[in-house]
Amino acid sequence: MGKVNMDDDYIAKARHSMAHVLAKAVCTLFDDVKLAIGPPIDNGFYYDFDLPHTIREEDFAAIEAKMTEIINGNEDYVLRKLDNPEDELKDEPYKLELIKEFREGGEEITAYDLGEGFSDLCAGPHVENTRELRNWGFKVASIAGAYWRGNSDNAMLQRVYVYAFPTKPELKKHLQFLEEAKKRDHRVVGPHLDLFFLDETAPGMPYWLPKGWKMYNALIDFSRKVHEKRGYQEIVGPQLNSRSLWETSGHWEHYRDDMYTIDFGDDQHFALKPMNCPNAMIVFGHTNRSYRELPLRYSELSLLHRNEASGALHGLLRVRTFRQDDSHNFVAENQIFDEINDILDIADYLYSAFGLVAKAYLSTRPEEGYLGTIEQWNQAEADLKKVLDTRFTGNYEINEGDGAFYGPKIDLKVRDALNREWQLGTVQLDFQLAGKFNLHYTDSDGKQKVPVVIHRALFGSLERFIGILIEQFAGKFPFWLSPVQIGVVPVHTDHEEYAQKITQMLRDAGHRVSIDTSDGTMGNKIKSFRHEMMPYIVIVGEKEVEGGTISLRTRSGVQINEIAPEKFVEICKKMENEHLLELIEEIS
Ligand SMILES: [Zn+2]
Ligand SMILES: [Zn+2]
Repeated sequence: MGKVNMDDDYIAKARHSMAHVLAKAVCTLFDDVKLAIGPPIDNGFYYDFDLPHTIREEDFAAIEAKMTEIINGNEDYVLRKLDNPEDELKDEPYKLELIKEFREGGEEITAYDLGEGFSDLCAGPHVENTRELRNWGFKVASIAGAYWRGNSDNAMLQRVYVYAFPTKPELKKHLQFLEEAKKRDHRVVGPHLDLFFLDETAPGMPYWLPKGWKMYNALIDFSRKVHEKRGYQEIVGPQLNSRSLWETSGHWEHYRDDMYTIDFGDDQHFALKPMNCPNAMIVFGHTNRSYRELPLRYSELSLLHRNEASGALHGLLRVRTFRQDDSHNFVAENQIFDEINDILDIADYLYSAFGLVAKAYLSTRPEEGYLGTIEQWNQAEADLKKVLDTRFTGNYEINEGDGAFYGPKIDLKVRDALNREWQLGTVQLDFQLAGKFNLHYTDSDGKQKVPVVIHRALFGSLERFIGILIEQFAGKFPFWLSPVQIGVVPVHTDHEEYAQKITQMLRDAGHRVSIDTSDGTMGNKIKSFRHEMMPYIVIVGEKEVEGGTISLRTRSGVQINEIAPEKFVEICKKMENEHLLELIEEIS
C-alpha cells in the first residue's frame, strides 16, 4: 500500500468503509440483524440497525474486538453489480426501500462484499482492503435510538456511533478532548454551582437561581456600561404584539411557526416577540426624526420567546426564552463605515474581557432577489470590506452571495478554551425594514430619506453566552463575573464579629460576599467555598483580629497573609471596574 493522502475525502471514505466493518461485526455477533445505513460523520461514523437484541454498553467491547478481528483479517471490499437485488435482499426491508428509490432514480444497483459471508448494498466508494484501516484508532462511542429516515412514523432503529481517526494518538486526543468537555459541560457545571436549572414544566426556559442571576446581571451591567459610553440608548418594547405588527415586519408570514401566538377571540391575534426589531422600528417612527439624530442606537434587552423544536433544545445553548444584547442602529448611508467600525470596536473590547478573539465572516449580496439598489449594495459591501481589512487583516472570510436578501452581514465567531468555534456576534445591514415601517428622517437638504437599519448583537443570546462562558472558564470565572466573589471564613466563633465587619466592608464596596458562620471546622469551610470556585477566600483568626488584617487564599491556592483589608478592597475594585480577566494574586 502506498502512502495515502489523508485528505477529508479519504478520511470520509475510510470512515464509511469502517461502517461496513461494524455492520459485519454486528451481524456476526447478533441474530436477525436488518441493515439500514452507515454514513461517515465528524469524528467517526454510525450505522443504523434493526435487531431483536438491545445493544448496550456491555456489548461495546465485543463489537470492538470483532471489528479489530475483521480489520486484521485483511479483507477485500469487492464491488458487485446486483442483477436481482429484490431477491437477494428480500429479508432486508430498509435496503428494499432504498433499492426502490435507486431504481426510480435510474441508478445502477451495487453491493460491496467484505471478505467472506458479508455483503452490503452500497454505491461506495470504499478503501480496497481493511489493511488500510489497521493504523486507525476507533472506539464504539454510544448507542441511540433513531427513526428510519428520521421520520417518527417509521421504525425505531438502533444507531451505533463509533469514533474513528486515522491514527491511535488522534483517537486518544479526541477522547481526552471529550473528557475535558464533559468536565466543563455547562449542563453539569451550571447546576453544580447553583446557577440555573431546567424543569420539565417549561422546556427550554431556564430557571435562574440567585447566584446565576447575579452573574447574569453582572454581564448585563458590563454590557450596558460599555454601550452607554458609545451612545446607545436602551428601550423596552412590549412582549406581546398584535398580528398587524408582525404582518408589517413580515414575521407573520415567514416566522409564525417559531412564534408563540395567542388568540384572544374576536379576531384578536397576538404573538410573543421572538425578536426586538419591530418594536425598535415603532420607536423610531414614534416621532419626527432629523439627520442630526443619526446614528440613532436603540438597544433592548427584553425577553424573547422562540418556539424551538424540542429535539433542538440543549441546556442554555438552545433555549426558548432568552435575552440578547441587541441593538438597532439607524444610520444614513454615508455613516455605514464608521458605524460598523464602531460596532466591531465594541465587540473587540467585550470579547477581550473573556479572553476571546473573534474571526469575522462577511456575507455578500445574493445573486437574485435582493432588495435595494446595486449601488447601495456595492457601496455597503465596499464599506464593510474596508472595515474588515483594517481590523481583521487576514483573519476574515467572505461568503460570496450568502447575505440575506435585505442586506450584507458580518458574523463574528470565537474559539473557546477547547478550540471549539462558536458564533457570537452578528452585524446585519438592512435596506428593507425601515421602508416596511414607512420610516423617514429629514436630511440636511430638507428631503425625507429612509434610514438604513443595522441589527446587531455581540454576545447574541445571553443565555447561550453564559453557557459558553461556563465551559470556557470551567466555572472559574473572572472576578467581576463570579456569582460569589469572596468567601469569608472565621477560624473560630471568637472571630465571628470581626469576620462580619470585614464582610460588611466588602459588601459596602459593592462585592458579592458569602460568610460561613456555621460551627464546621475551618478546613471544611474553606473546602466548601473552594468547591464553589470562588476567586478569594478571606480567613480571619487570632492574628488577623489583633492586627486588624485579613489573610487570603486565592482560587489557585496562593496564600497571602495578613494584609490590610483596605488594600484588598482596592484590588477588588480594580478587577471589578476594569473587568480584568485574570485574578490578581500578588497583594502586598
Ligand atoms: Zn459502503
Ligand atoms: Zn433586529
